[in-house]
Amino acid sequence: MNLITKVPKGTKDIIGAESDKTVWLEALLRDTVRPFGYGEVRTPVFEHTELFERGVGDTTDVVTKEMYTFEDKGGRSITLRPEGTAGAVRAFLESGAYAGTLPVRMYYFANCYRYEKPQAGRWREFEQFGVEMFGSKEPYADAEVISIPYRIFEKLGLLESITLNINSIGCPECRQHYQKALYEYFSSHKDKLCETCLTRLDKNPMRIIDCKSPVCSEIAKGAPIMLDYLCDECREHFEKVKKLLTEMGISFEVDPTIVRGLDYYTKTVFEFVSNGIGAQGTVCGGGRYDGLCTQLGGVDMPALGFGMGIGRLLMVLGDYDFGIDNAPAVYIGSIGDEAKAKAMVICDALRASGVSAQCDIMARSVKAQMKYADKVGAKYSVILGEQECADNRAKIKNMSDKTEREISLSNFVNEFKEIYNG
Ligand SMILES: [Zn+2]
Ligand SMILES: [Zn+2]
Repeated sequence: MNLITKVPKGTKDIIGAESDKTVWLEALLRDTVRPFGYGEVRTPVFEHTELFERGVGDTTDVVTKEMYTFEDKGGRSITLRPEGTAGAVRAFLESGAYAGTLPVRMYYFANCYRYEKPQAGRWREFEQFGVEMFGSKEPYADAEVISIPYRIFEKLGLLESITLNINSIGCPECRQHYQKALYEYFSSHKDKLCETCLTRLDKNPMRIIDCKSPVCSEIAKGAPIMLDYLCDECREHFEKVKKLLTEMGISFEVDPTIVRGLDYYTKTVFEFVSNGIGAQGTVCGGGRYDGLCTQLGGVDMPALGFGMGIGRLLMVLGDYDFGIDNAPAVYIGSIGDEAKAKAMVICDALRASGVSAQCDIMARSVKAQMKYADKVGAKYSVILGEQECADNRAKIKNMSDKTEREISLSNFVNEFKEIYNG
């Protein structure tokens, strides 16, 4: 039989150093959102297809072209989640959390699936981190949510290369006027629009602004902008968000071309764009989606959030110094059965007290053991033989400056910690 050695197209294994970085980054993200009062929500990888059709929007590229949808053995239409928000909102509604204390703050890590053309920074399976906040229609909530990714990028030293762009896409009332203006504008270019955009023209002309076809995006450059159509309430909301961000020391630019690829957004939308990874530069996107809960058949509940791709963020971080050190603090070599057992017992005690320690489990020669200790970057090493076991003492060597000193085997953990912590 042939050995199966290829992952499916557009997917990848995360192993070794990349896995270490991922875990490190996840911890940083958790540590950042906890002080804001966020709690984790874990939802299923698959949901009823209808959730995404209604929650993401049935005119979006994600829903029309990119979903992994299949019929399960019970005849239900099931879809692997293409993004994290719809599931989190469903869970919020299903749990009844809306009847409790507001606001409700949730964060998630979700593996998501999209059938896309694989390219730099885009995979068919990718991990998304996001937060959702429910219950506030006030601009304070917008400013707080936007401040989260800002503080994350600040911690990572990325603010020099990442820009925050914000826009308002209004409410259903003022957007109606805008959609009409867009319809008129794009209708006059009907003969040049791509086939997908022709269907969008009647259903949702705002989607045309998102089109990746060069011809359509060239036409979109001359399209009317939403900011000119905002109603008084939406305009005031947007002004307040900008004022709050300024007061919090968060720099931003207003970008009227942001409409976000998903249908559920209202009022504030934002993107953090890196100038490091070219055309695929959006590392975080989000906004307000006051109509989503009712669109899913739930209570009327204002909400907002953002999502960011972990893989893409790692790409942006590039050769960032994560300071991850997996090297054992000490390697305990051994000669003979008695010493091998002793080495295992000491290692066991060291690890129980939080010290990373390794000993020989390959029955190697002492020379090979020391070569291994060197290779894995052990900070200290000890070799136990018959004599050391009998004396209950051994010499411990600092692997970088090669200095040696004595250590007691019966009090190894305490003495080692003293040496190690200086
Ligand atoms: Zn409005
Ligand atoms: Zn198009």
